[in-house]
Amino acid sequence: MSCRLLLLGVLLCAGAAGAQQDFKRTLVPGRPLCLVWPGRDYVYHLDAAGSTRTPGDTEFAAMEAAFDAWRALSSTCSDFRFIRGEDWSRSVDIGYDEEHPFDNYNVVTFRERNCQDVAPPDDACWEKETCGNVYQCWAHGGATIGLTTSSFSFKDGHVVDSDIELNAAETEYGPSFLFTTVNGPPCSGPPSTDCVATDVQNTMAHEIGHVVGLDHVFSAGSTMENTAAQGETSKRVIDAGSAAGFCSAYPRGLPPTQCRVPEDPGLKLVADGKGTGCGASAGGPGLAAVLLWSVALMRGGRRSTAPRAGLPGAATGGPRG
Ligand SMILES: [Zn+2]
Repeated sequence: MSCRLLLLGVLLCAGAAGAQQDFKRTLVPGRPLCLVWPGRDYVYHLDAAGSTRTPGDTEFAAMEAAFDAWRALSSTCSDFRFIRGEDWSRSVDIGYDEEHPFDNYNVVTFRERNCQDVAPPDDACWEKETCGNVYQCWAHGGATIGLTTSSFSFKDGHVVDSDIELNAAETEYGPSFLFTTVNGPPCSGPPSTDCVATDVQNTMAHEIGHVVGLDHVFSAGSTMENTAAQGETSKRVIDAGSAAGFCSAYPRGLPPTQCRVPEDPGLKLVADGKGTGCGASAGGPGLAAVLLWSVALMRGGRRSTAPRAGLPGAATGGPRG
């Protein structure tokens, strides 16, 4: 088996005040490397099913608005391109199939059912941790709004695939998060589609930050802050810190940059920027973490037997400073 899967940055933090210029790049676990796309084109496919709860096609417009914000940023400093491919009408497979490297696509999907509700308890997918793909369901924590799964090489940190799932799963008590697409006002009563509950554009702007290799920071107001309250739209605007992180990773006309490696091996590995760490706390209603889930791949000659997301051996990372 040449694949390993790691769960990175599983954090439920109360946002702490901090400098707004912060950014943090996602580190390859245990290595002095950051995740970085070797090329400059991120081609993504929006799941054609969209979300059944957003009016009309507004969710597509909202997702594109989030990509547009990153495109606008890129036009100021980089030649990185976010390219919308054909919408996705096939089964959505999150993760990277190492045996079929040319059959991998970057997909953005709303998962509208919880795996607990659709996968039989004795299904082998639970053991293999493949229920999400097998049943097209949300297989992650109920407090998680969205999840970006990035597959990358341990050798050089190069990202080969990055998929985004949004948690639109209903529970028996109603949807955990009602994704909305209006600009305002924030919902003051029960969530509804004519006020801002969980903003699609806000969420997507954050997840795209993970796609390009940014990790969470604990600066209130940052696009890469790891929590989002109901009614929030502030992450739609890419903050200066996240912008600096992106621009420094993908400078126009130059190769992508790796992290600074400390000369003293005793020093703690750090990515560019300043993360402040956080004290973990449970998320309550309206305070939910957005997680980064990364599939770490070992590149090599050997074939993987089960290279999809959700392999046994998933490790849960705590808050990282
Ligand atoms: Zn996140």
